[in-house]
Amino acid sequence: MNLHAHLELSQIAAPFECPSGVSRQTTANWIGEILRFRRSPVYNARKGIERGLQRQELIETTSLIADIVPNRCPAFSQHYISGSAEVFPFTELIAWKPEQAETEWKALPDCYGLSPHAPHTVCPELLEKAVQSGKPLAMHLAETPEELQLLRDHSGPLLEMMRQADPDYDPKKTLPGKRPMDYLQLLAAAPLSLIIHGNYLAADEMRFLAGHRETMIAVYCPRSHAYFRHSAYPLRQMLDLGVCVALGTDSTASSPDLSMAAEVRFAAAQHPAVPPETINRLASQERIQKLLLHFSGGIR
Ligand SMILES: [Zn+2]
Repeated sequence: MNLHAHLELSQIAAPFECPSGVSRQTTANWIGEILRFRRSPVYNARKGIERGLQRQELIETTSLIADIVPNRCPAFSQHYISGSAEVFPFTELIAWKPEQAETEWKALPDCYGLSPHAPHTVCPELLEKAVQSGKPLAMHLAETPEELQLLRDHSGPLLEMMRQADPDYDPKKTLPGKRPMDYLQLLAAAPLSLIIHGNYLAADEMRFLAGHRETMIAVYCPRSHAYFRHSAYPLRQMLDLGVCVALGTDSTASSPDLSMAAEVRFAAAQHPAVPPETINRLASQERIQKLLLHFSGGIR
């Protein structure tokens, strides 16, 4: 099972190259590439999703996908089956200004789950609506050190990036939380939340997730994590604390392909302290499948 994909980006053949003279991909540069791609004439969300679902390595290794789909993409917003894969779509919500929240909310098609994108791109009003909707949620959280800095100090490269996109970007209005814990506490009120990445969660935040393991799932994307050269993923620590961890590929903009078998192999190589059979199990959890299915009204 692949608990985190952005199939809409599958027209991107390979992860974006680092800018010349730089040793690692920066978040700001990578997001800039994504925004450029989404504005280009080539981009078509529907074609991207279809292309992703047709990829051979996905067909061969995946029976369940939690996919993030753009808002206003009704054709792929409800639970569906493609070949042998069952897809649970989470419709993306992005609106950092409180006055944009209503428009973004009203544009929602009938949908399975919701993905309030990330702390810096979703205002509290919209996040609250998502939590109150009773739908399963997926949110990027504790993904980069820049995100932690923005939450903590309202400063840093992510603030500059947001200000480039919107000179009026106001972290005081967008970011009620000072750290990922504040968001975990909000998300705990949802019936199910996928905490995407969680690369930089602190120990007390992992313990919080462990205490809510029935409804909160951390999703580790091993090869995407390596592409961004993040600090070592705290997989052993999370599992020891009792966090429910699942695996995902992320998109082909940061992962070489959509093979879950390759993710499992890569994760096993990265984490020799975790038995390979444990990592294997993370990619195939019946309990999570049942949970996801529960919110589709049991329709298969
Ligand atoms: Zn993502």
